[in-house]
Amino acid sequence: MSRLQQTYGLSEEQREIVAAVRAFVDKEILPVATELEHADEYPQAIVDGMRDLGLFGLMIGTEYGGLGESLLTYALAVEELSRGWMSVSGIVNTHFIVAWMLTHHGTEEQRARYLPRMAAGEIRGAFSMSEPGCGSDVAAIRTRAVPDGDDYVIDGQKMWLTNGGTAHLVATLVKTDPDAGHRGMTTFLVDKTPGFGEVAPGLTVPGKIDKMGYKGVDTTELVFDGYRIPATQILGGAPGRGFYQMMDGIEVGRVNVAARGCGVARRAYELAVGYARRRETFGRPIAEHQAVLFRLAEMATKVEAAHQMMVMAARRKDGGDRNDLEAGMAKYLASEYCKEVVEDSFRIHGGYGYSREYEIERLYREAPMLLIGEGTADIQKMIIGRRLLEE
Ligand SMILES: Cc1cc2nc3c(=O)[nH]c(=O)nc-3n(C[C@H](O)[C@H](O)[C@H](O)COP(=O)(O)OP(=O)(O)OC[C@H]3O[C@@H](n4cnc5c(N)ncnc54)[C@H](O)[C@@H]3O)c2cc1C
Repeated sequence: MSRLQQTYGLSEEQREIVAAVRAFVDKEILPVATELEHADEYPQAIVDGMRDLGLFGLMIGTEYGGLGESLLTYALAVEELSRGWMSVSGIVNTHFIVAWMLTHHGTEEQRARYLPRMAAGEIRGAFSMSEPGCGSDVAAIRTRAVPDGDDYVIDGQKMWLTNGGTAHLVATLVKTDPDAGHRGMTTFLVDKTPGFGEVAPGLTVPGKIDKMGYKGVDTTELVFDGYRIPATQILGGAPGRGFYQMMDGIEVGRVNVAARGCGVARRAYELAVGYARRRETFGRPIAEHQAVLFRLAEMATKVEAAHQMMVMAARRKDGGDRNDLEAGMAKYLASEYCKEVVEDSFRIHGGYGYSREYEIERLYREAPMLLIGEGTADIQKMIIGRRLLEE
């Protein structure tokens, strides 16, 4: 195993889990990832394997049939998965955010109803804040839920749902009191059948959005047209807390995006080292030209720095501390470094990096997604800056 991305102080169990995921990635993901990605094919066999490994329940409490692991264990697993194929980590990520929100904000009845089946991978979660008109400015959402007897009726359009087609449960942010700002927002637990078209009366998943990368995993819109949902499906039982619940969910999601950046960057670095040792110019391997060697050194330093920052952010949350500052920094640093390391690896591959035959071509299309998801770099800087001034 490489000297890079070592994590000190892990328990025996954590080391075993990370090693099992790494072995799964080497055997089941890396050999097929690029072909599946080019075909934009949902990796069902890989998803089944992840379910057998217990990855869908990694952080869900043991009382609900999960493994009850820490955010750090989860992030290290995500790092390994992303080294294999970033899309695969995307399949677990929204599920993990929904499970987190249920665990920390759901009623006991909601937890008992969803978490055991989520831990078993029988039902999978997606989460939906973004809309066609807004992503960063969450408070500007327009999807509206209006009370009607014991139900609410939802109208509006959501955008960019990772796993929107394949999920059974969508934690959806809507406005219940448009004049109350952040306090007028509510998360509903929306049940649906997996698939596309009208997935429940008044609820439509129009189809997959065609993306430049991050293929295999489905990203969709979700249209509510007079969709009726019982008030008991409000996360936590009472309206008005949705904004805070979602922010809590994406705060842990940011550690996970940082972990993804670490995994993709690590793979790009590995590919670059392999290629730089094989490829010869002017009578020697290109790794022996100082410009290339220096590039590898810079890449390795970024891979290492991002990993340690991500681990620190996860440990802070696991220790019960507020970690929005560290999660924002880790997400920002890891996604920027990932983009830079991937580009350096691409340059080292010369013309072959531009060929679809080479894995780096896929990574080059995947890395930019990390600059956007779970809050853009600009939004991370806003969070980091405000938090620093607060202190
Ligand atoms: C593949 C993919 C999957 C996604 N999955 C999900 C999902 O599962 N669930 C979900 O809810 N969303 C999801 N998203 C949406 C994602 O979270 C948003 O795209 C992201 O938050 C940015 O929002 P936006 O696209 O509306 O950009 P905008 O908010 O319109 O921003 C455009 C640009 O302006 C900048 N900007 C905006 N406001 C400011 C400001 N105040 N100061 C400085 N700069 C600013 C941004 O940084 C960006 O560069 C996904 C997106 C993608 C691409």
